[in-house]
Amino acid sequence: MKDTEQLTEVVSGSDVGMVIVMDGAAGPDELGRVRERLAAMGFDVHESAGAERTVLGAVGGNGGPVDPRELQVLPGVKEVLNLSKPYKLVSRSFRAEPTVIELDDVRIGGSEVVLMAGPCGVESEEQIHIVAEHVAKAGAKILRGGAFKPRSSPYSFQGLGGDGLRYLRAAAEANGLKTISEVMDPSQLELMSEYVDIFQVGARNMQNFALLKALGRQRRPVLLKRGLSATIEEWLMSAEYIMAGGNHAVILCERGIRTFERHSRNTFDISAFPIVKKLSHLPVIGDPSHAIGIRDKVAPLSRAAVAAGADGLIVEVHNTPEQALSDGPQSLFPEQFVTLVEQLRQIAPAIGRTVA
Ligand code: PEP
Ligand code: MN
Repeated sequence: MKDTEQLTEVVSGSDVGMVIVMDGAAGPDELGRVRERLAAMGFDVHESAGAERTVLGAVGGNGGPVDPRELQVLPGVKEVLNLSKPYKLVSRSFRAEPTVIELDDVRIGGSEVVLMAGPCGVESEEQIHIVAEHVAKAGAKILRGGAFKPRSSPYSFQGLGGDGLRYLRAAAEANGLKTISEVMDPSQLELMSEYVDIFQVGARNMQNFALLKALGRQRRPVLLKRGLSATIEEWLMSAEYIMAGGNHAVILCERGIRTFERHSRNTFDISAFPIVKKLSHLPVIGDPSHAIGIRDKVAPLSRAAVAAGADGLIVEVHNTPEQALSDGPQSLFPEQFVTLVEQLRQIAPAIGRTVA
């Protein structure tokens, strides 16, 4: 017999655990049926029989996901607290050390805060070359630029496709940068593999399971943006999909979630950084541009993300944002990016990090 507090400790220390609170009026038959059900599900059962009610702690399980409703519906059960984590490979208990993703000399998830920057979309050969030169000089290591754009309207700029990828790669190589670009469909993977060092999964595709599975089958790193209304657990489950396929190079990206607030495009969930860091060994970076949606507020959010423990940032920068074909209002002018990086260089050491 254990007391309830001890029981909760035992259960929450395990990856799969539940606490089942029996109704005060429940008799031995009902208790027996719950114990039987738990045993059939592969659980070790710890019992705490108080004067007023019995509490069961269940630890272990068959390895599959647990649906607490299966117990909730049994007679005599008052409440079921599911303390299980449905993800395994992304979890800190699978890997205690932080995962560091290496692209030659660029290390994501190490002590350096890695900066990814560039336009929302690749618009022309000239544009991406100009931006690449600016962001490389400022300290960015990875050039962003969409070639396939997931626009809310089918009439908006959809990206330059293969040409965009070629321009992106050439501009990156000319400036010693790596590349990141969004993949929207598994059919684009083969072409993109020639030009892209990191595949970006956009917020709208976070639960595109066919895409996640395809990315799990290949070995290039994947930046997984958090969905517009995804909980942290749903986001981590999407990372689990990629890892379950065998690709363990996953970078998480907080890009703002949809809330009732209308003063910002989305609400930057700064809590996500310390929370995800505790739950997972994967690197997590911030996208302040899509979070806030307005240029002059990108810097404060970037500073906050770094202070909160982000392993990197992905920031939209454009040489002529007023003429940008997408996301101009949230894109920084190159000089603003330079100033931001200088500020980050001052903030990072306060928490034992560096910015190149
Ligand atoms: C983008 O990075 O340009 C983009 C479309 O981002 P998100 O998927 O976060 O909206
Ligand atoms: Mn964008």
